[in-house]
Amino acid sequence: MATRYTFAVECWDPSGNTITETIAESAHLTVAIAAYEATLAVRPKDWVMLRNGARVVQSRPGPGTLLIECPDCKHEGALDRRKLPDGPIEQMKFKCRICGCRDVKPKK
Ligand SMILES: [Zn+2]
Repeated sequence: MATRYTFAVECWDPSGNTITETIAESAHLTVAIAAYEATLAVRPKDWVMLRNGARVVQSRPGPGTLLIECPDCKHEGALDRRKLPDGPIEQMKFKCRICGCRDVKPKK
């Protein structure tokens, strides 16, 4: 019978859409947190997440990620900074994937 791990430490791409690497899996939260914190140190540029199934326990986006929030439905998203158009980020507006609002701005 295969072991079922409860916690996973993963690296994600800057947009938060794809797991690029699973660093560690453990049934023990204390061990998983230790692995998460070690991963933060050795992967300063990556988006590192500690998850329990679909639930995010800890998350630290890397410098390549721009976090955004919809003013209407409060949906939060992430964008890959390398794929943004040129110009000052504070003045950019994006479309909400959930409600279609076009006034989504970077989170402060
Ligand atoms: Zn919205």
